Amino acid sequence: MIPYGKHHLEEDDIQAVVAILRGGALTQGPTVDAFERVVADYVGARFAVATASGTAALHLAAMIAGVGPGSALATSPITFIASANAALYVSGTPCFVDIDRSTVNMSPAALRSLLEHRRDIKAVVPVHFAGLPCDMPPIRAAADSAGAVVIEDAAHALGARYPNGSLVGCCAHSLMTVFSFHPVKAVAAGEGGMITTNDEHVYRRLLRLRSHGINKADDPLIRPADGNDAGQRNPWYYEMQELGYHYRITDIQCALGMSQFQKLDRFIARRRELAHRYDAAFAGLRKCHAAQQVGRELSGHHIYVLRIDFAGLGLSRGDVMRRLRAQDIGSHVHYIPVPAQPHYRSLGFDPVDYPEAAAYYREALTIPLYYDLSDAQQDYIIAAILSMVA
Ligand SMILES: *Cc1c(COP(=O)(O)O)cnc(C)c1O
Repeated sequence: MIPYGKHHLEEDDIQAVVAILRGGALTQGPTVDAFERVVADYVGARFAVATASGTAALHLAAMIAGVGPGSALATSPITFIASANAALYVSGTPCFVDIDRSTVNMSPAALRSLLEHRRDIKAVVPVHFAGLPCDMPPIRAAADSAGAVVIEDAAHALGARYPNGSLVGCCAHSLMTVFSFHPVKAVAAGEGGMITTNDEHVYRRLLRLRSHGINKADDPLIRPADGNDAGQRNPWYYEMQELGYHYRITDIQCALGMSQFQKLDRFIARRRELAHRYDAAFAGLRKCHAAQQVGRELSGHHIYVLRIDFAGLGLSRGDVMRRLRAQDIGSHVHYIPVPAQPHYRSLGFDPVDYPEAAAYYREALTIPLYYDLSDAQQDYIIAAILSMVA
C-alpha cells in the first residue's frame, strides 16, 4: 500500500533515541534545549520553545496573543481544525478568511475586508498550506492596522522560504510561528511542536505556560518575601504565576526530531523533485491540475493536492479514491473546510460563506508525496490517475 504521506527513519535516527534511553534524562533534559537551539538557528529566529504538539503550541500562542472571551482569532477555512480550535481553547471566537484560488492560502484581500468591519480580532493565523508560504507583507500590514497579532501556522512549512529567501519561522512577519513534528510532517519527532519568536517576553512566558505557569529560575518573583530569606533564595520555593499547562515535550522526542532535522534539506529536495514530476505529468489536462499554481519553488512540499473536476468527468471523488485504493494507492482530502464541521456549524458557521474554500473542497484530492516514494511508484500512481482524468 502506498500511503498519501509517511515519515522516513534511518538507522542514525533510531540510534539517537537509543542514546537518550541509555543516558540520563528522558524528559526536561538538555536535548529539549538543544533541539530548540537547532531549529531557532536554522530558521533565523532568536528563540524557540518546544511543546507536546503543534496543537499545544497554537493554544499557547492564542493565549499570548490575548485572544479570550469577547475577542476573535481569524484563520483559513482550509486548514487542520487545530488552527481554529486554538480560539475555542481560550474561550475566544474563531472566524475564517476565504482562500485565494491560486494558492489555497488565506486571501490578504479577504482578510483586509474582514478586519475593516470586525474590531474584535486579536490574532490572525495564516496557514502556509501544503508548505507554500502565504503572502505575508499584506497580511501583516492588515493585522497591524487592526491591532492584531500574527501567528503563522507553519505545521506544513518547515524548510519553506519567503520570496526574499528567508526561512519560514524567522518571524519577520509575525510575533510567533508554530511548527509540528507529527510523523506526517517534514520532520518527525513522534509527536511534538515548536514556537519560534524574536520577542524575549513572549519566549519567557511560553516557557512558563508550557509547564503549569511555574516561574523559571531567573524570573522575577511575584512574592519575593516568600521566596527569599535574609537575601538568599529559598531552595524549595517556586511560584505558579498564572494558569499554564503541562505541554512539555520529552528528550526522547527531541532526540528523534533533532536527528531528523539534519536531513530536512534532503527531504525537501526529494519532495520538490517528486512535485515537479507530478506537475509535468498532469500539465495541460483540462479537468485536473495542481491545486497550487504559483510560488511552489519556495514550498516545503508537505502534500501534493490536485484539483479535479469530478462533476465534469462524471466521477465521484469517492469512486476515484476507491479505484486508487483497489490499486494500493492511498489518497486523502486536505481539508474539509473547518466551518463545515458539525461542531463549527453548531456555533453558527456555514461553509457557503467561503465560496473559494467550498469550490476548492469540491475538487481537492491529495495524492502520495513523501521522501521514500520511488520514481517507479510515482509513475504507477500517475498512470492510475491519468487513466481516470485524462
Ligand atoms: C498538523 C497540523 C497542526 C497540529 O499539529 P499537531 O502536532 O498534530 O498537534 C496544526 N495545523 C496544521 C495546519 C497542521 O497540519
